[in-house]
Amino acid sequence: MKCFNHAEADAVAACVYCGKGLCRECATRQSEKWSVCSEKCLEGAEALEKIVQSVSRDSKAGSRVAGTFLVLSSVVFGGMAVYEAINGHRPELIILGSAISVTFVMVSYSMLKIARTKL
Ligand SMILES: [Zn+2]
Ligand SMILES: [Zn+2]
Repeated sequence: MKCFNHAEADAVAACVYCGKGLCRECATRQSEKWSVCSEKCLEGAEALEKIVQSVSRDSKAGSRVAGTFLVLSSVVFGGMAVYEAINGHRPELIILGSAISVTFVMVSYSMLKIARTKL
């Protein structure tokens, strides 16, 4: 690939926004951080980065809330199973309660792991 600006220069990078080839000189002209071909693409790349960051922040917050909720639910169902085991006359609730409790713990574990990952 050749630079979109300099037909004789080999491209060392591509514009992160539109994918045009960039020579060494062009790759660093707009920004140190991004390889972009123009100011417009620099703005586009920065806007895109903001969107990606906010989406991933939202989904992490969501995972944390859902994970915490599932931990609490598994405690409730686990407690129900224990209660039925001690006092109950309904063995199916013991099995159901412990099965749900174990499932919730496993799901919440993976959700909280997502919430803990760094960007
Ligand atoms: Zn571009
Ligand atoms: Zn160039």
